[in-house]
Amino acid sequence: MLDILLLPVLTDNYIYLLHEPVSGATAVVDPAIAEPVLAVLQENGWQLDYIFNTHHHHDHVGANLQLRQATGCKIAGAANDSTRIPGIDIALSDGDCITLGDQTFQVICTPGHTSGHIVYYCADSQALFCGDTLFSLGCGRLFEGTAEQMWHSLQKLKNLPSDTRIYCAHEYTQANGRFALSLEAHNLDLQHRLMEVAALRANNQPTLPSTIALEMATNPFLRENSTSLRAAISASPDDSPVTVFAKIRKLKDQF
Ligand code: ZN
Ligand code: FE
Repeated sequence: MLDILLLPVLTDNYIYLLHEPVSGATAVVDPAIAEPVLAVLQENGWQLDYIFNTHHHHDHVGANLQLRQATGCKIAGAANDSTRIPGIDIALSDGDCITLGDQTFQVICTPGHTSGHIVYYCADSQALFCGDTLFSLGCGRLFEGTAEQMWHSLQKLKNLPSDTRIYCAHEYTQANGRFALSLEAHNLDLQHRLMEVAALRANNQPTLPSTIALEMATNPFLRENSTSLRAAISASPDDSPVTVFAKIRKLKDQF
């Protein structure tokens, strides 16, 4: 199993440090800044082997070159985005695998937030590092992709085992929850989750990881088939799941 450390940085970003204790192999997911990563590596006596980037935005790749210079690590990112991932050494495509000691990560392309976004799924540790594709109670904004692309990307994540832990790149849960509640005030799972989230945030604790099961029960962007949600946005019976998803995304942008 992986040891997974969560480092809160900037306003609301999370950097994840992954350590496989048998081999000692270590990776960092989406390092926005270098200092806290270097500090944790030093504290634990770990050697950084890889950076795993989900997409090219600065708050995810900001420390790539500094960390590589300091540690000699290799930088993995999307082949589709090789011109935008600083220092990319390992270009990954959908279905590719990358290993950290005895742990294998499967790469899944999830265009929508950006055209080259990828996520890293580790079945061995039941963990998904999903960058800005899926958030707890939300999903990434559509900067480069269409609603249809993002919907397809999210379907791939929905199909992962329901106990998969999801490690998103931002702490947006509480704000996302206000929007989710505006659509599904009577959803008991959502009410419970928001009470838990409020208690965690009051103590400055992360609301992550979430799980696929929890998101399926509470996240409006995974619930386009829910009757109550469809009613809340006045979807017509002929509206396809993609159309409903697009409407929810638009409502969230204006919320
Ligand atoms: Zn982003
Ligand atoms: Fe981001």
